[in-house]
Amino acid sequence: MISISNLKKCFGDNVVLKDISLQISKGSVVAMIGPSGSGKSTLLRCINLLTVPDSGVVDVGGQSIVFDGKKTALPKARDLAKFRSKTGMVFQHFNLFPHMTVQQNVMEGMVTVLKIPKQEARAAADALLQRVGLGDRADAYPGMLSGGQKQRVAIARALAMKPDVMLFDEATSALDPELVGEVLNVIRSLAADGMTMILVTHEIAFAKEVADQVIFMRDGVVVESGPPAIVIDNPAQEATRSFLSRFK
Ligand code: ADP
Ligand code: MG
Repeated sequence: MISISNLKKCFGDNVVLKDISLQISKGSVVAMIGPSGSGKSTLLRCINLLTVPDSGVVDVGGQSIVFDGKKTALPKARDLAKFRSKTGMVFQHFNLFPHMTVQQNVMEGMVTVLKIPKQEARAAADALLQRVGLGDRADAYPGMLSGGQKQRVAIARALAMKPDVMLFDEATSALDPELVGEVLNVIRSLAADGMTMILVTHEIAFAKEVADQVIFMRDGVVVESGPPAIVIDNPAQEATRSFLSRFK
């Protein structure tokens, strides 16, 4: 579903991604862990081209874009929107539209990008809100919701675009501890439904529970990757052990 080859990204002199290659198969859940500044967010952003890689190949669902180290032109606006719509991104800080109701937040992309008629989009939004346990909050504004509820709206909004892949960038890091569980439950149910997902997370126990593959990144490099039973429980690399020891 996703194939990344030889991805490189610098910000000025700062080499943030150093030759990253990885494959993610349909229906699998990948947890990406690693210290702050290791390039996890940049890698996620390169997958949906919120950040433009310097070089390498990004392939999502069979559509690949080659970055050749020179100034690669991004696809034209329509193709770019189409490429981006294959991935649904959920951010740490929700990024909901504050002046729109919960229902309007979920409908917005369906109406403006997918050109779904409003009646139909409204019904689909309500179904998605049910799915994330917020069927009764359609008319609320984001400001009236808890962080956990906001994040569930953000997940419903991303799902509304019918993405092939969901990308979560520390989706629970900004939440009060008592609200983390309700968001993890939604992610857990998506995993059970076979959604392909990449989760950047510091929830190591959760990563171990839901992930098929764990990727440990440090300093722009994939240090170690494999099943949680190896990478989390019995890592081969000292750097991975040292990182994980902070969570014990
Ligand atoms: P992580 O998500 O693992 O904490 P990031 O991908 O956010 O790491 O950041 C990796 C490195 O890239 C950091 O050194 C960060 O300062 C730098 N960086 C990220 N985004 C930008 C940007 N837009 N401009 C300049 N430097 C950036
Ligand atoms: Mg980050």
